[in-house]
Amino acid sequence: MAFEDFIPRKLLKALEDIKYIPGYGEKNASRFVYGFLKLDEIKKESIVKSLEGLFSIRQCKECNILTDQEVCAICSNPKRSKKYIAVVEESQDAYKIEKLERFKGVYHILGGRISPLEGIAPEDLSIELLKERIKKHNPKEVIIATNPNPEGEATANYLMKILKHYNVKITRIATAIQFGTLIEYVDDLSLEESIERRT
Ligand SMILES: [Zn+2]
Repeated sequence: MAFEDFIPRKLLKALEDIKYIPGYGEKNASRFVYGFLKLDEIKKESIVKSLEGLFSIRQCKECNILTDQEVCAICSNPKRSKKYIAVVEESQDAYKIEKLERFKGVYHILGGRISPLEGIAPEDLSIELLKERIKKHNPKEVIIATNPNPEGEATANYLMKILKHYNVKITRIATAIQFGTLIEYVDDLSLEESIERRT
C-alpha cells in the first residue's frame, strides 16, 4: 500500500493547501493541520468561521491597508492629515505605529519590500499609487518606515532615489530599532524613538 493511499485524501489536500500561505513550508502546514485536528469541534468551527470572515477583508483603495471598507477608517477620517504619509511594508507595520497614537498623518502600504532573493522587484510594490498620491495631495513629508534590515534598507534607498524628483521632504525613521528587528515586533518605546528621531 502506497503512502498516498494510506493517508486520508482530505488530510493530504489540507496539508497541500496550507502551503499556499507565503512562508509556510511543509513543517508549518503540518503543524497547522495536525494541531487543528486536535482541537474540539467548537474551536475548529471558530477557526473556519474566522477564515471565512477574511473574505470580506480587502485593501483600502487609497493607502492599500487591509480594511473591510472601500476606504479605510484612517484615510476617511477628516482629522488625519494627508500632508504626512508614512510608508510601510505591510498593514501590520501601520497597525503597530497606529497603536502608539502619535502619528496623525496617513499611511501607504507597499505590500512588501524589494528582495531579489524572493524575486520581489520595485514593480511588484505599490509605488505607482504612492507617486499618484504625492502628486494629488502634495504632502509636506513622506516618512519611510520600512524595516531596518537589508531588504527594508534597499527599499528605502530606492524610494528616496525616485521620490527626490518631487517637491516633498523625505525622511527615514531612525534606527533606535535594532538592525534586523521587524517593526511588527519592536517594543513601543524604540518605535516611538525611531519615529521622533527620523532624519
Ligand atoms: Zn486607507
